Amino acid sequence: MIKKTITVGRAPENDKVFNLPDISGKHARIHLLEDGMFKVEDLNSANGTYVNGYRIKSSTVSADDEVRLSANLIIDLPVLFEIRQGTIVKDANAQPNKTNPNDFTKEFAKLEKVYLDYKKNKKKILVTNQRKQIFVRTGFMAIPLVFTLVFRNIHISGASIVLAGIAQLFTGNMKHLDKLEELDNDFKVRYVCPNDKCRQFLSHNSWTVWHNTGECPRCKAIFNKEKL
Ligand SMILES: [Zn+2]
Repeated sequence: MIKKTITVGRAPENDKVFNLPDISGKHARIHLLEDGMFKVEDLNSANGTYVNGYRIKSSTVSADDEVRLSANLIIDLPVLFEIRQGTIVKDANAQPNKTNPNDFTKEFAKLEKVYLDYKKNKKKILVTNQRKQIFVRTGFMAIPLVFTLVFRNIHISGASIVLAGIAQLFTGNMKHLDKLEELDNDFKVRYVCPNDKCRQFLSHNSWTVWHNTGECPRCKAIFNKEKL
């Protein structure tokens, strides 16, 4: 699953050294995954590792996500892993000039992908689980049938139906619940108001609903140009 790992920090033994005062000796470990995504792990750094402005312990991110070490160092992951050419450190101050400080329309637009990816992955987990359940149930339904055919005894087949029923109760696959929980936790971190001072979770309302609402109910950050 992991194609390549790069450690970053101030200490010289890191794969990539950032000799800056607010970077920890061993700051973070970043993995390039087979599917082109990245897994970012903070190594208990003093000033933290941030994904889209949110402090994380461990998070799976895409090339579009903003990964920041401490307060100011934004790193370009595809460049770090030499997938793309350019400079590793993005200029943290190179933010688009805002005529209206409440204008978060550009940042909000990026959340559409976050929402759609969440829906897509959730569906994938549920469909896979459903297929697994059908497979398991078919298996257990076949057992009483076999008993009936082999023993031709109504009591034995009756008992085996009960046993198969009980066995089914214990085969409920919990793994997909873990996957759903992980997906949900990640969603709650990323589907948030883009205003750094707010970061309100935007609930499970669709991106379109928020786009139509046009602003953050908490901090009044503007999501939709029509509200400007
Ligand atoms: Zn807000």
